[in-house]
Amino acid sequence: MKRATQKVLLLNPPSDRLYIRDQFCSHVSKGTYYWQPLDLLQISARLNAQGYELSIVDAIAERLSAEETQRRISRFAPDALVFMTGSDSFADDVAFIAEVKRRGVGVAVGIGDILREKGEQLMATHPEIDAYLHDFVNNGLHAFLQGRMDDAANMTVRTATGLRKVEERDSPRTFTIPTPPYEIFPLDRYRMPYNRYHPYATIITSSWCPFGCNFCPFARTSYRVREVADVLRNMEDIRRMGFRQVHMADWTFAVDRKQAEAILRGMIKAKFGFTWSCLSRVDLMDRELMGLMVEAGCDLLELGVESGNQEILDRYEKGITLEQIHDTFRWAHELNISTLATFVLGLPGETREDLQKTLDLALTIEPTFCSFNVASPRMGTELRRQMLADGLIKDDEEGAILDSSRSQPAFSTGQLAAAELQRFRQIAIRKFYLRPSYLLQRLRRISSLVEFQNYASNGLSLIWQSIQSARARRT
Ligand code: SF4
Repeated sequence: MKRATQKVLLLNPPSDRLYIRDQFCSHVSKGTYYWQPLDLLQISARLNAQGYELSIVDAIAERLSAEETQRRISRFAPDALVFMTGSDSFADDVAFIAEVKRRGVGVAVGIGDILREKGEQLMATHPEIDAYLHDFVNNGLHAFLQGRMDDAANMTVRTATGLRKVEERDSPRTFTIPTPPYEIFPLDRYRMPYNRYHPYATIITSSWCPFGCNFCPFARTSYRVREVADVLRNMEDIRRMGFRQVHMADWTFAVDRKQAEAILRGMIKAKFGFTWSCLSRVDLMDRELMGLMVEAGCDLLELGVESGNQEILDRYEKGITLEQIHDTFRWAHELNISTLATFVLGLPGETREDLQKTLDLALTIEPTFCSFNVASPRMGTELRRQMLADGLIKDDEEGAILDSSRSQPAFSTGQLAAAELQRFRQIAIRKFYLRPSYLLQRLRRISSLVEFQNYASNGLSLIWQSIQSARARRT
């Protein structure tokens, strides 16, 4: 019997800006890098295993114009389309989707932070959206595409009688997911700033996050672990495909210590031979676990440090201590594992002195890389709710949604003006990256051509951003 939907196109809509829209956290790429859209990868994994004919058009990664994107869509002639969107680009995205549907595509399903936050409200005014996904790992997309609305779990769908939010009937603590068809993605176009090899593959070992950092859109979401055997099978596929670099894109690796250790021991036993990176928290790390990670091939660990002031860490419910930060980075140096420390600058209540403490901490713990992000009241966060309530920001329905790219301050607080914050961010970047000892050390550690190219292009982008911001200050 012919199925209702056979051909599905996965779309990252076009734009002149490097919008990153995946993982319910939209922003603009700060440098020249652009990573694999995790949502579309995981969605493609299930649809591929369910026998759909798939095509991906990542118009941002491939730098396609709107017209070229429309042509690619028409050529494939899909029955349905799954598109990513985000708070920064929503108005343009839905205008594009409306045109796609006008040209004959029957069904459009969205995914993104803005839909997660206010999807029902937006669907009421945007008939071009037929449904949206609440989760890219566990969802009833297959049921929806076959017209079985009752089974369209973790989705909000448009029916003849109105909008319907379909919850999952049971929420198991573990999940499995097939290996994504990596080869249909434009792998050549994706770059992480610190990768040693190219192209790379993305994998997950868990979904969502149980922690409560109140500036984060994933705080206190229903954390689930992927079965260990399923993770190792996906890694085996990755090895067979010849990837030498892997990124574990879990929001927080090793929340479940037992699962993490089982994966690491499985990796060591299998001798996969690829290097990999992941994101985690300092309070989940200890020397033993980090030693296992290194033995399993981990060469970069990304850690949310956020602030050099314990009071700020506590106020925003980060749940870590300065002592844990110092310990973890000391172990990383001892084990020779590269680190990327992420910081958030300008949270309400922070003063110029607090910012200085954060920079001092960065210079003391000496991560391999630092990411200084300006605080942003992201969709779906407690921070955003608080700031709306305090009148620090306004929510103008859609269109005038705040620019939540991580490089531009979106608001001023009583303690810090947006311009001052922007100035400090540039100072922090320069003070960290342009130290002669740091530059020398980086040059000495380069071990591949790809690593050299990444440093060169991100270094140039850094210098370009500094010039731009100096110009902006003068005008
Ligand atoms: S640990 Fe990371 S992913 Fe989890 S809530 Fe905190 S910032 Fe978000």
